[in-house]
Amino acid sequence: GGTIGILGGGQLGRMLAIAAAELGYRTHIYAPEASGPATEVAAGWTQAGYDDADALARFAGEVGVVTYEFENVPPAALDLLAPLVPIRPGRRALEVARTRHSEKALVAALGGRTAPFRIVEDLDGLHAAFAAIGAPAILKTSSLGYDGKGQVRLGPDANLAAAWDAIGRVPSILEGFVTFFAEYSVILCRAADGTVAVWDTPHNVHRDGILDTSHVPAPSAVLAQADAAVALARQVAAELDYVGVLTLEFFATADGPVFNEMAPRVHNSGHWTIEGAVTSQFENHVRAVCGLPLGATGLTGQSAQMLNLIGADADKWPEILADPAAKLHLYGKTVRPGRKMGHVTRVTR
Ligand code: ATP
Ligand code: MG
Ligand code: MG
Repeated sequence: GGTIGILGGGQLGRMLAIAAAELGYRTHIYAPEASGPATEVAAGWTQAGYDDADALARFAGEVGVVTYEFENVPPAALDLLAPLVPIRPGRRALEVARTRHSEKALVAALGGRTAPFRIVEDLDGLHAAFAAIGAPAILKTSSLGYDGKGQVRLGPDANLAAAWDAIGRVPSILEGFVTFFAEYSVILCRAADGTVAVWDTPHNVHRDGILDTSHVPAPSAVLAQADAAVALARQVAAELDYVGVLTLEFFATADGPVFNEMAPRVHNSGHWTIEGAVTSQFENHVRAVCGLPLGATGLTGQSAQMLNLIGADADKWPEILADPAAKLHLYGKTVRPGRKMGHVTRVTR
């Protein structure tokens, strides 16, 4: 028993709260938003900003451990929480995952490959970076981007001033464009004692910059390089003395894995594990942050496929439920174009 504090109130927090409840834990959500997918299912809830020292202290007093469902928790909030309650995964994981260049630098230091990149602080810096990297390239905000938001693609004739305006003139990186034949992710969970459990590597397909489907087992050409990617992810987890679920996204290239980005948390490409694996990413994350042994990560069937329900897909829900093999997960959000409303998983036995 006990109460797990979760920073963030979105669907990842919701699925963590559900998994925690199944293990007999209560959850307490801390989020600035009025309400959200996680607050609707958690036992407790604090609505306050990440700069509210009193609210953070009260939150810390009500929970036995703090975890998070997004990587942009302001460092000052962690400074306030850290003396009061254990934070898992730890501070360093959040620091590394906060900016695209720090996570790429860590992976490169461990011998992994990344796209060529330059840090961009201003328009002059963008000109210099574009001259060095060449076209095609992608300008990405260093922090806070998700679902392809905060990105501009640059062709040979790109208008750099317009691109710099488009991303809001904030600290960014310019990445060279990677030629890949597939995308996949490594999702692992590291327990407090250092034990690591790894799920099957999902093949991820994106549409309009948003994850569309994840499928296991991945095609053989991806599986042929998954071991190298898993080995790298294990090194990252060990280096960060990581506790909980860690996700690394990769491009599958003719020369092997190229690291794209990491998430110090449960991940959309792991949603299939709820029905498709013996233990889900959410359950193992709860187990890890609570100091329990990890559950088995093997497949429950021959294959599993996860399909995201984006925005206006709501009218498809009855059709989805007409397939008896389909498991529908809705997050209780109001429909907006491009918004992740839920997902559906099909496991083939
Ligand atoms: P997420 O929702 O996964 O956090 P994000 O907004 O952080 O997305 P990225 O994962 O960096 O964005 O990029 C989104 C997609 O754009 C990638 O999955 C890939 O399809 C494409 N992409 C990103 N960077 C590159 C690159 N350097 N070369 C080629 N394609 C890229
Ligand atoms: Mg991302
Ligand atoms: Mg991504």
